[in-house]
Amino acid sequence: MRCLVISDIHSNFAALMTIVEDAGSVDAIWCLGDVVGYGPKPNECVEWVKEHCDICLAGNHDAGATNQIDLAPFNTYAAMAAVWTERQLSSLSKEYLLSLSSMVVQDGFTLAHGSPTSPHWRYVQFPDVALEVLESIDTEHCLVGHTHFARVFRQNNNESSVHWIQDETGPISLKDCRIVANPGSVGQPRDGDPRAAYAILDTDNMTWEQRRVAYPVEETQQQMLDAELPTRLIARLSYGW
Ligand code: ZN
Repeated sequence: MRCLVISDIHSNFAALMTIVEDAGSVDAIWCLGDVVGYGPKPNECVEWVKEHCDICLAGNHDAGATNQIDLAPFNTYAAMAAVWTERQLSSLSKEYLLSLSSMVVQDGFTLAHGSPTSPHWRYVQFPDVALEVLESIDTEHCLVGHTHFARVFRQNNNESSVHWIQDETGPISLKDCRIVANPGSVGQPRDGDPRAAYAILDTDNMTWEQRRVAYPVEETQQQMLDAELPTRLIARLSYGW
């Protein structure tokens, strides 16, 4: 199975359409949450995900925009966008977001938005947290989103430590090891690279491939201007932070 793995779309429909075209033909699509929040096109993104994704998790922004969690832990701009999103969402979009789980086990992979230990809030950014993740799950591998950083952590068989894979190019093998992988963010990358991020999981060959693709950032920014979303959220898309 060739699976498109996406996360943190954040209502950026232009970025979503660009990665879908770039990914080409796939057998399944898994979305690791935060379909909405920050961006200008929440209903379009929810409707697309509802129609096309085989799995979609609820992220903290999906929960925030549907009044499932308190917005107090959100920063000022994220909270403003969550309130705006809540007003935009159709009843069908809300119903779909409310139906989602924040963690799913599928085909030997544990999928969680943040971390299996705290699906809404924990950030898996470094090897020590990735080790905590692997110790908490029953599957070999774990896929997470939430950080907006495309990162892969690997624990080789017969090793207790976890390594952050930074220098390998091309598909990463999932054989003879355990992996915690994050495809990065479709709609709001934060690693200094404004291009949309996603990953291709190949379960026949057991590989994980990180990908980046440029999308029309200015199209999303104009939509955000029209929606009067915070200037800071508009500006950050140009720089990927
Ligand atoms: Zn997010």
